Amino acid sequence: MTISDDKKYVMNTYGRYPITLSKGSGTKVWDTDGNMYLDFVAGIAVNAFGHCYPPIVDAIKSQAETLIHCSNLYWNENQIELAKMIAENSFGDKVFFANSGAEANEGAIKLARKYASIKYGDKRYKIISAKNSFHGRTFGALTATGQIKYHKGFGPLLEGFKYVNYNDIDDIYDALDDDVCAIMIEIIQGEGGIHEGSLEYLKKVREVCDENDIILIVDEVQTGIGRTGKLFAYQHIGIEPDVMTLAKALGGGVPIGAIVAKENVAVFKPGDHASTFGGNPLACAAGIAVMNEVTKEGFLDDVVKKGEYFKEKLNGLKDRYKVIKDVRGKGLMIGCEVDLDDAGEIVLKALEKGLLINCVNHNVLRFVPPLIVTTDELDTAAIILDDVLHEMGF
Ligand SMILES: *Cc1c(COP(=O)(O)O)cnc(C)c1O
Repeated sequence: MTISDDKKYVMNTYGRYPITLSKGSGTKVWDTDGNMYLDFVAGIAVNAFGHCYPPIVDAIKSQAETLIHCSNLYWNENQIELAKMIAENSFGDKVFFANSGAEANEGAIKLARKYASIKYGDKRYKIISAKNSFHGRTFGALTATGQIKYHKGFGPLLEGFKYVNYNDIDDIYDALDDDVCAIMIEIIQGEGGIHEGSLEYLKKVREVCDENDIILIVDEVQTGIGRTGKLFAYQHIGIEPDVMTLAKALGGGVPIGAIVAKENVAVFKPGDHASTFGGNPLACAAGIAVMNEVTKEGFLDDVVKKGEYFKEKLNGLKDRYKVIKDVRGKGLMIGCEVDLDDAGEIVLKALEKGLLINCVNHNVLRFVPPLIVTTDELDTAAIILDDVLHEMGF
């Protein structure tokens, strides 16, 4: 199979880098020509334990030999166990399993509307979301996504969404009306360019929701499962959402998504919502293995330390290369904004030197390495970046 076969048979939806990946181990991946790369994309914050992490591989293998899938017409123990692990380690009481971030967000939107319709009737259905946000590509999630570039050509979008400037509480006050049922927000905007919500802002958002019985949906699809140095990013703020969505890292690479809700908000009844694959035994076996690893004593402290360490390295580069404008992010979700219209060439040059990163919002280099990355690997990544910036003459 070659790249020209891809062009012939696979829909042309991705701007891809010119390599084909064929295997991985830990933080490293190899292409079909045998070249090795440090993987700081990690499946876009999916491979929190890198590639082929033995406890996750073992969990998947043994589950595959036992029961891969069964319908949600029946109970399955893995689903129950994973829901319990998520609930016991978060604000949440109840979990619904889906297959992706977008699907989790769709379900969260439905849940918020259901809650409001039960309490207030059908007039209360609007969702406030932030400009520059990203919530997924299906219609509800796409509409919630506050970026025009993703909407173009797909209208009409879903009715009942309002967009506010991120980190601007007055904008939320202005958008408030008695038709609003939920505010959907990221604690750190990922695809939008690694922008952190400020502490005061997010606390105020919580207050607004409390005062008006509005559901606070926190999209932790990218920030969740240890990425920011806490199990969930809302834990940095000292507030609790009413609903949280998860996906990316939860299955260690196996597709899974989840809606986590407080008891009083978990109003779905049989027939209200469903998913054929959602929470199947295989995906949940992987999820259980991930949750076991990420909740191990001291693991997240280590993520925090490594994140600080790498940010120091990047700030060192910032002092030497004026093209670097800002280094930001939490834990191992780090963005490095450069003073260019497009940072794509830096990404390509880094790839040629054996480092996979990507670029969000045109000019922000994103670093989301596996959480098991070593300081040696962080050093190597910083050296490669240094070489690239030097060679490009910055
Ligand atoms: C990736 C992402 C999504 C979409 O997840 P998919 O699994 O691609 O549908 C939603 N929200 C956030 C914050 C994300 O980073």
